Amino acid sequence: MVLTWIFGFALLGSVGAVGGAALFLLFPKQIRERLVPFLVSYATGTLLGASLLGLLPHAIEQGGLLPSLGTVLAGLIIFFVLERFLIWRHCHREGSCEVHGVAGQLILVGDAVHNFADGAVIAAAFMSSVPLGIATGIAVIAHELPQEVGDFAILLDNGFSPRRALTWNLVSGSTTIPGALLVYIGLQQAPQFNATILAFSAASFLYIGLADLVPGLHRRIGAETGLGQLFLILAGIGTILLLRMHHN
Ligand SMILES: [Zn+2]
Repeated sequence: MVLTWIFGFALLGSVGAVGGAALFLLFPKQIRERLVPFLVSYATGTLLGASLLGLLPHAIEQGGLLPSLGTVLAGLIIFFVLERFLIWRHCHREGSCEVHGVAGQLILVGDAVHNFADGAVIAAAFMSSVPLGIATGIAVIAHELPQEVGDFAILLDNGFSPRRALTWNLVSGSTTIPGALLVYIGLQQAPQFNATILAFSAASFLYIGLADLVPGLHRRIGAETGLGQLFLILAGIGTILLLRMHHN
């Protein structure tokens, strides 16, 4: 049963998000440019909520306070190093940015690594509890959708045909599934690592939310935009809180 949940959300958060992003491209650019920032704000709320109200409390429950916070800290540093040296970066601006200008291939590699980690997080969350898994899965889908929209735009800018961009996005995006299966099998063999993987997952969501998404939100100026962003971030946190209320 748990495996069905894991597989379902891994599929939705990878192939589903790529498919959703492809549909998004059918919208006129003006509408797309308005909708994507909304999604990014909402995703930020779900990521921070799932990390601090879901994954981290579970990690602490199972693994203790100090080891869990230590793992989060180590995770944040590791993600910084990975991003710094592997140019693993989320970019939500359409068109090229200084990092993504390098080449389409680089995005695909970065995406494959990132989605593998998302899959691992989904599996670890579901193996802890189904409501935690659902909250985590929603946070993955919410940030993957705008991410894939951005990736499409960059690949097309780099001379990929729409068909080739879709194919390669699907290939690099689907690493979510092996990531999830690997953690599912691994944690069945060695359940003692559950708390560590949950704390690492909490770090991953914190990092994506604060280091990847928030800087993009700051780039959009204006008080009205800021209020809208705040509202959607709170809506994202609210979604996680709602799921948490059904939690045992
Ligand atoms: Zn992701």
